[in-house]
Amino acid sequence: MRSVIRRAMWLIARDDSPVAAQELHVFACLAEECGKQSETLISLEDCQDWAIRHSGLNPGHRAFTQTTMDKHWTTSLVDGS
Ligand SMILES: [Zn+2]
Repeated sequence: MRSVIRRAMWLIARDDSPVAAQELHVFACLAEECGKQSETLISLEDCQDWAIRHSGLNPGHRAFTQTTMDKHWTTSLVDGS
């Protein structure tokens, strides 16, 4: 068995393939002692709708964080091989 090892420059970039387009989002309420969060959803708009409904039911709860999961990345050699 023979191995060839060489130095190489690699790049990492967002994966734009259709499979990678399905990121998952969660919104969480930042109001003190609330702790409520949306379901984990593919649609960012559905998460935003959850936040609006949550504020409608809890008028003092108006700040949220968004967590996005399953961001896909791909690596490649700089010289294209
Ligand atoms: Zn809340």
